[in-house]
Amino acid sequence: MYDITIIGSSFSGLSLAHHLPKNYKVLIIDKKKNPSDHVESTGLITTATYELLKTFIKIDDFIPNQVTTIGVVSPNYDKHFFSHSKNPWIYTTDTQALIGHMSSILPKNVTLKTGSHFKTFKVSSGEYPVEINYSEKGQEKTVKTKILVGADGSHSKVAQENPNLSQNKKFLAGLEKVYFGDIHLGDHPKNTIYHFWFGEFSLGYGGWLSPTLIDGKHAFRVGLAKLEKDTHELKKLDEFIEILQKEKIITITNEKKCIYSFGSLIPIGGTLDSIYDSHTVLIGDAAGFCGAFAADGIKGSILSAKIMAKLIPKHLEGDKNAFDSYKSEMQKYHKLLTYYKKQVFYRWVWDRMKRDRTFHAMYDIIEAEKEGFLNQYCDSRGDGKGLTKVILKFKHIPKLIKYGFYILLDMILPYKRK
Ligand SMILES: Cc1cc2nc3c(=O)[nH]c(=O)nc-3n(C[C@H](O)[C@H](O)[C@H](O)COP(=O)(O)OP(=O)(O)OC[C@H]3O[C@@H](n4cnc5c(N)ncnc54)[C@H](O)[C@@H]3O)c2cc1C
Repeated sequence: MYDITIIGSSFSGLSLAHHLPKNYKVLIIDKKKNPSDHVESTGLITTATYELLKTFIKIDDFIPNQVTTIGVVSPNYDKHFFSHSKNPWIYTTDTQALIGHMSSILPKNVTLKTGSHFKTFKVSSGEYPVEINYSEKGQEKTVKTKILVGADGSHSKVAQENPNLSQNKKFLAGLEKVYFGDIHLGDHPKNTIYHFWFGEFSLGYGGWLSPTLIDGKHAFRVGLAKLEKDTHELKKLDEFIEILQKEKIITITNEKKCIYSFGSLIPIGGTLDSIYDSHTVLIGDAAGFCGAFAADGIKGSILSAKIMAKLIPKHLEGDKNAFDSYKSEMQKYHKLLTYYKKQVFYRWVWDRMKRDRTFHAMYDIIEAEKEGFLNQYCDSRGDGKGLTKVILKFKHIPKLIKYGFYILLDMILPYKRK
């Protein structure tokens, strides 16, 4: 019997376990054999997320690169620009080591069961009203708890099993490969992350390239994301990697072998409506706390965990309305829910764009505002002005008209994918 049972030992579940009061008996169940296996994230964190993690983890030990620059490459790779900041704006993380560390220093009141697959639950009466069924090494097992937390990611089984809760419906499919080697674009590749806007080649999101260190050796992560309906097109990642080599943007060492790769779904429908009831709560990706455009979900995972670590004890002490302030507490943190709403709007616009010429027109506007672009991207400091405010300026009217016209054509003219 446990006071609180958390499904999922990744960013959100582990952060919650670290913050719950130590007088509660807490269980974490995860289907992975080791928490550091298959951490499905590039692991870029903004300065705001860095500050959230710094309060309970020696986060500096897990940061290979401090990023001060974003490099944006246009469709056809014929143009690029860099946008700089004086101080680190984003950090890369050794995500596997970070999650491994978070799980290895859990407080004594927390039990972590790995290799255990959550199946279903039912609610009855009594002090421990929630009965959870899970399987461990092929055996069916049961545990009783007071509160069940779904920290089980974008396809939350906890949400699926509870008709009172909402579920993510819209996703990006992301695929990433990690190689030893070097990046050669720009003057500071170790402090730069790269976004590739190659339009028709990558409708849905685009490609990214990010430096890292693995076992002390130079390495990089290269990835591609597409709308879930176009998952089959993720095979274009290999084509993308070949082009990057041909354009002399990267060199791969270690006989061109990929060190590891992973693919996963990113929720892009915005914050879900119903994310708790009297015995169940959702945190992190399971609650839809992820930027629909930038695909940044680590901040929302850690923040929702920190907030729930305060609300769950209130609820257990008898305040049956404690969870009602969940969303307003999220919003208090630099208007995070407004940021997610804006992200859904940017996603809507992005999904209307179909042809390279439209992406080129957008690239031209952003390039003209390259300094402000970095400040708003990912809402890094939590005080981002937002993309629209950065680009909606009188001087850009001709460029905006051209861009708007091309979007309109993309919407009304039939588009045949190449
Ligand atoms: C390719 C890719 C790149 C990304 N890059 C970034 C980035 O650079 N920056 C950023 O901020 N965000 C990024 N994201 C998003 C970010 O990774 C997620 O928002 C974050 O991992 C969500 O954390 P979470 O703890 O809520 O869920 P998850 O990290 O998805 O963890 C869910 C956990 O639940 C476990 N689980 C699931 N179902 C069950 C079950 N039935 N039984 C037991 N255990 C279960 C899983 O094993 C897993 O450990 C990226 C996502 C992808 C896919």
